[in-house]
Amino acid sequence: MQTISPAQLLGQTEAHLHYVSERVAIHQGMKDAFELMVSAAKDDAIELKIASGFRSFDRQLMLWNNKFSGKTSIKNSAGDLVSSKHLSPLELVHSILLYSALPGASRHHWGCDIDIYAPNLLAKDYQLQLEPFEYSEQGPLAKLSAWLVKHAHQFGFYFPYARFQGGVAKEPWHLSYWPLAQQYQQAFDVELLTQTLNKSAILGKQAIIENIDDIAKRYINNVCNAPTNVILPK
Ligand SMILES: [Zn+2]
Repeated sequence: MQTISPAQLLGQTEAHLHYVSERVAIHQGMKDAFELMVSAAKDDAIELKIASGFRSFDRQLMLWNNKFSGKTSIKNSAGDLVSSKHLSPLELVHSILLYSALPGASRHHWGCDIDIYAPNLLAKDYQLQLEPFEYSEQGPLAKLSAWLVKHAHQFGFYFPYARFQGGVAKEPWHLSYWPLAQQYQQAFDVELLTQTLNKSAILGKQAIIENIDDIAKRYINNVCNAPTNVILPK
């Protein structure tokens, strides 16, 4: 087993990454499994594509700060816009955490977690939103969802946000490569996260740091377990 460096945990290095396209990178150790899954899906007329793979600490920090400052919108689980006007800093932090991870605690930092879609199931001019309805039985990506539920585990993948457990919303597009992800998950260190956030320019810092243990318990560690039939590392 490779040891995971703090920089890898926090999304502050790209040394372990493989670029799938110009803007999408994944963990090198997941490349083969992902390619096998892509080719199996192709046989069933589904074109698997990554909407988002590795995301750096700085990028996540920018996404976070844009939401906190109101530059980009925040949605609730029903897809409605959240008005931040009357929220306390801590309430605002919680409303962002439903869909966006804290910089330093995003599973996308690892490279072995991906958001997936199937462009061939979408109309040409369709703009993917990564919203639950798109992946529901009535949505355009229903066929993809059904395929992943049936087959992803055969390639080592599972859904850490398979259902809402009081923390992060259900994310039927987010897949995790279990053989690597479980190592990162075990290496998570709330002290390291706290130190890193303290040194960063994150908005809402005080509310976050004061409640970091609660946030870790409710959002970061509160993920769905991999199914027992997920394939084991060779
Ligand atoms: Zn994701």
